[in-house]
Amino acid sequence: MNIKTLLSENELPRSYYNIISDLPTSIPPVLHPGTKNPVGPEDLSPLFPLELIKQEVSNSRFIEIPDEVIDIYKLYRPSPLYRARALEKLLDTPAKIYYKYEGVSPTGSHKPNTAIPQAYYNKEEGIKKITTETGAGQWGSSLAFACSKFGIDLEVFMVKVSYEQKPYRKAMMEAFGAKCIASPSNQTNVGKKILSENPDSTGSLGIAISEAVERCAMSSNVKYALGSVLNHVLMHQTIIGLEAQKQLEKLDAKPDIIVGCTGGGSNFSGIALPFLGDSIINNDKLILKAIEPSACPSLTKGKYAYDFGDTGQMTPLTKMHTLGSQFVPSGFHAGGLRYHGMAPLVSHLVNEGFIIPEAYNQTDIFKAGLLFARAEGIIPAPEANHAVKGAIESALDCKLKGEKKTILFNLCGHGYFDMQAYIDYFDNKLFDHEYSDNEIAMALSGLPAV
Ligand SMILES: *Cc1c(COP(=O)(O)O)cnc(C)c1O
Repeated sequence: MNIKTLLSENELPRSYYNIISDLPTSIPPVLHPGTKNPVGPEDLSPLFPLELIKQEVSNSRFIEIPDEVIDIYKLYRPSPLYRARALEKLLDTPAKIYYKYEGVSPTGSHKPNTAIPQAYYNKEEGIKKITTETGAGQWGSSLAFACSKFGIDLEVFMVKVSYEQKPYRKAMMEAFGAKCIASPSNQTNVGKKILSENPDSTGSLGIAISEAVERCAMSSNVKYALGSVLNHVLMHQTIIGLEAQKQLEKLDAKPDIIVGCTGGGSNFSGIALPFLGDSIINNDKLILKAIEPSACPSLTKGKYAYDFGDTGQMTPLTKMHTLGSQFVPSGFHAGGLRYHGMAPLVSHLVNEGFIIPEAYNQTDIFKAGLLFARAEGIIPAPEANHAVKGAIESALDCKLKGEKKTILFNLCGHGYFDMQAYIDYFDNKLFDHEYSDNEIAMALSGLPAV
């Protein structure tokens, strides 16, 4: 039968996995925006606690998970692994489809996996307040939950379009005790400048990051936290893949194809990197598919180049697949996938050929999500629908070729706070936006010279 495979609490992984120790080549260094020299820990210390900076540059294969973090993980981890038998049947595919379900967390996505350790390391270093940004509100609500567990104040700059479209996420942040501000706001210099140029700005993740970073830089004993992109964030998420490895072992199964959606790259990395590490060591063949929206196609249409992480150009420069830090995506519904760049680690792995990127339109991914919902009984987050679509396409490809492959995908969150997106889909109000080469070239014209 094996529809659902659970692990006991005792089987929770006790360490995060750091793929950097197993990679044949190293990632290009992060550069200081002024000097263009590689940044050192001292450049990052105004923003992050020391332990997270150490993890960011660590070469150790495993990093132990603190007991206090494990105790909070036990509220929802290990998360279940399902075999999507009904979906397989519906698709009439010879492939086996498994999915790891991260919607069981307190805020309904994978984001608490890193919010909890980040809040913990801040608390250990005596930090009383954190600033951050959030797109659709998934990260803001997850960090709000984590900060409430450790008695830390949290201020969240939320992209204005989502602040207005998603009042429930804002309420959730407030329920966990955080303060939520629509971005661009008049509370920072960056925000004021943007509002003076464009009073109707609906905001972007890049702008919200600038505001949160500025706010942190101007106060002492305040740190900043990021919900994706950075090495330490991706590493915290590997708990997903490490659990999935144990669960699949129990079933005597091994994935041939792993699929995840990519905004900043963290949930995809979380499920994929432990398996990729094994496949590098054992020299096995493994296909990794990173699925992104056609309306924010950093991996499929962006350039692999040094760029800023934020619109205000305050962050260090990282080499990544980028659409340019001034890129503001059209107002599509997968708020978590609207970032102009990509995790440098994921970009490096795409560049080295370890990951295949694919892009799909939002109407196609909602169609896939509904097929999944009706078969499996979970309504996915709009972001997760990208992974569902990628998995379905892989399964249909197996059918075409008569291949009995095993597919594993990450169902990174549920969509119960995103029903407006589904309402819009039912009302035929969702439009597809594909960028022309010209539009992309325009957005990329402002890349910094390195
Ligand atoms: C934030 C979010 C994403 C995108 O971020 P990644 O770092 O790429 O994982 C995807 N899905 C959900 C449900 C999210 O909340």
